[in-house]
Amino acid sequence: MRLNDLPKHYDPKLTEDKWYQFWLDKGFFRAEPKTTKKTFSVVIPPPNVTDVLHLGHALNNTLQDILIRWKRMQGYEAEWLPGTDHAGIATQVILEKSLAKQGTSKEKLGRDKFVQLAWEWKQKNGDAILNQLKRIGCSCDWDRTRFTLDEGLSEAVLDVFVHLYNKGLIYRGKRIINWCPRCQTSISDDETEREEKDGSLWYIRYKLKGSDEYISVATTRPETMLGDTAVAVNPDDKRFKKLLGKSAILPILDREIKIVADDFVDPEFGTGMVKVTPAHDPNDFEIGQRHNLEQINVMNPDGSMNENAGKFAGMDRYACRQALVAELKKKKLLEKTEPYKVPVALCYRCDTEIEPYLSEQWFVKMKPLAGPATEAVKTGKVRFYPERWAKTYMHWMENIRDWCISRQLWWGHRIPVWYCQDCDQVVVSKTAPTECTKCKGNNLKQDEDVLDTWFSSWLWPFSTFGWPKKTPELDRFYPTKALFTASEIIFLWVARMVMAGYEFMGEEPFSDVYIHGTVRDEYGVKMSKSLGNGIDPLEIIDEYGADALRTTMMLVTPEGQDTLIAKRTFKVGQHFANKLWNVSKFVMANLSGEFAPQAESRLEEGETKLEDRWILSRLNRTVSEVSDLMTNYRFNSAVKALYDFIWHDFCDWYVEMIKPRLSLPEGDKDRQAAEKVAHLVLNHILRLLHPFAPFVTEEIWNHLYFGRAGGEFPSVSSQKWPECQKELVDEDLEETLNRVQDVVTSIRNIRSEMNVPPAKKADVLIRVDNKALQKILEENKNHILNLGQVEDLTIDMKISKPDHAASAVIREAEIFIPLEGLIDLEQERMRLEKEISRVTQLLEKTNRKLSNEDFLRRAPKEIIEKEKARRQDYRTMVEKLNKNLEGIVGW
Ligand SMILES: [Zn+2]
Ligand SMILES: [Zn+2]
Repeated sequence: MRLNDLPKHYDPKLTEDKWYQFWLDKGFFRAEPKTTKKTFSVVIPPPNVTDVLHLGHALNNTLQDILIRWKRMQGYEAEWLPGTDHAGIATQVILEKSLAKQGTSKEKLGRDKFVQLAWEWKQKNGDAILNQLKRIGCSCDWDRTRFTLDEGLSEAVLDVFVHLYNKGLIYRGKRIINWCPRCQTSISDDETEREEKDGSLWYIRYKLKGSDEYISVATTRPETMLGDTAVAVNPDDKRFKKLLGKSAILPILDREIKIVADDFVDPEFGTGMVKVTPAHDPNDFEIGQRHNLEQINVMNPDGSMNENAGKFAGMDRYACRQALVAELKKKKLLEKTEPYKVPVALCYRCDTEIEPYLSEQWFVKMKPLAGPATEAVKTGKVRFYPERWAKTYMHWMENIRDWCISRQLWWGHRIPVWYCQDCDQVVVSKTAPTECTKCKGNNLKQDEDVLDTWFSSWLWPFSTFGWPKKTPELDRFYPTKALFTASEIIFLWVARMVMAGYEFMGEEPFSDVYIHGTVRDEYGVKMSKSLGNGIDPLEIIDEYGADALRTTMMLVTPEGQDTLIAKRTFKVGQHFANKLWNVSKFVMANLSGEFAPQAESRLEEGETKLEDRWILSRLNRTVSEVSDLMTNYRFNSAVKALYDFIWHDFCDWYVEMIKPRLSLPEGDKDRQAAEKVAHLVLNHILRLLHPFAPFVTEEIWNHLYFGRAGGEFPSVSSQKWPECQKELVDEDLEETLNRVQDVVTSIRNIRSEMNVPPAKKADVLIRVDNKALQKILEENKNHILNLGQVEDLTIDMKISKPDHAASAVIREAEIFIPLEGLIDLEQERMRLEKEISRVTQLLEKTNRKLSNEDFLRRAPKEIIEKEKARRQDYRTMVEKLNKNLEGIVGW
């Protein structure tokens, strides 16, 4: 395509698929362990196979892609390993719902058929999200894509289970766990959503044995009283001393229960006496352990009452609650009911209320694993960005509890444990045992449960590279460098990976943990399907392009903070790509010679002008700044620095300054130098911006060098990351040019405020405070005349203010523009007066609002802040308008 045929605006649709396929064909994303280069690796946080791309993924993966592309350009053999997570409970819930729609169920299907169905579903839909990530431009090493249930990873899981079991770190026990009655599985604390619900506190009377007296206990879950095996009081509570050693009679079931003393009881709660239900409450479970109490489970796994609930057996837990309370009332055993905020936990997959439930499960002892993982963060071997998250991590590690790893699901790694049906021996083995290790019988039955999804993902940084086998990949790519994730899974995933890394590899799995924020809408509300405030990244890519998606997210996301974004925000990135496109077209159209891609920012002495040396100084400063920022994972500041350099320094100033030189005849020395510098800066810009906006930079690079370099197309992806040439950074020179820019900006501001027609040239007088500034401005007169649309420029230390002139004060100088003949003074006076009256009214309106106490009390803080900012803006505007009016009226 010739330059003249290039589209007016950058069109992502014409470039994205083409370049992505090109990179794949060239194998640019592939990393080989057999390399002489230094290696650098990152593993993707495996998205669930149930996921569809949302903006959170877009943010997470853009960050990783920027880092990995940058490292490739820095000369590393850079590996970004992709993959997905089987997401046990999430996938199973989806399939169960779909079966229910077809009028069947997993039970009717049977385990084998159900698992087969899950695999088929995974093959069909599972990797959809990985394909979506390609559209963002993610440069993953796709040949190494892994899945948490694939053969290699499954072997790693079994290996780890057997290893930990033999080490005494995995045990089976009856504990209170979080039980979801709908999913009918245990789930971890982190898989529940905690909230408060309006509920009641019921005060129930229990009769004292051998007496006509009653005691009273308070509960928020009366149905669990059917499983009570004691009443407890605080040992220091004098009110109840006389009751110790006595018994109470449980109403309705008429069971005799002991009254015990336990420190856990809070004398301030309810009546100071609490019912103890060891099988249905984690604290009661502990009290039960201390006092050797019986554990009576009164519920079935589906949340209905079981045979231990007497006549309530078969009822749903909520129906039972109602019936039980009614009966207590009838028997005058309900003392009173108070409204109460009840803390509840909901299943994060199906929103069903969690039941604390006594059940036999498998656990990992975490304390021994936590030691080295705690040490790693303390000593800085593993660092958090931003640093504050290390505290969250430490808090978890110091309060670590055993990990319940068994799930009553079918989709997952089945627990490698067999029970001998003849002698109760437990056989733990990576492969199915043929005989019982104790009685040698062959009547063995495998545990029905599967392992928690996180039991495979905590091995991800090494299992994906082939562990437990010793592989070249493991040797070169482990430990990885950086992990990018959200704060919600610091414990669930990050901490566990660090523990597994030390336990199985003897080394931390990564050294840097970058915690990014949540993507929210422009009002700060978390995006969610149910609220309908989500933005579909694919829609953004279709409308604005992948580069716009990437650069916008980087531009609006302050490091470590949440992203606040609206659909229209993505125009920022789209305009940025267009700006780059247009300036590139302009530069290319003005290059008369051949230029090679291997441009270094070196030019011969005496060949350049001030603006050339200035842009090279700014360029090299930017290179150094951006590299430093990226080393510290400050991508937001890095892209901002690039944006400012490209948009302002290069497009607004440099290119404008050299335009007159570019219209000199070809071969002119001044023109050649301008061409050389413009090419060189554009070349660097494309390389610097490539990790952030890979598609548009590749497209421009192609137009810049196609047919010029000869032979193989030199993709920008495989270019070297620019290095700062310190000797070209010149602070004094930048300062000199700043002075010229100050003058031009002021002239432009006056022109725009006074409504001077753009084509009309103005006379400008500059009163300078000193000779030095006068010299600088005199030397750069051409730029001021050219960029400021100036007809006649007078620079002097002795200038008095002309009549009817607008003025501006800058550092060490004052600028005057006589307005007579330039604008219609009378008309402008009227316009300004009208404008002053309009803005004054707006100012009064915000003033009224901000003195309204009702508004100040009710409005959210952000709205008040916005209003205050608005007031400041109006004040400034009125001031400025008045000053302009003064200039016209003339004093
Ligand atoms: Zn559930
Ligand atoms: Zn046996």
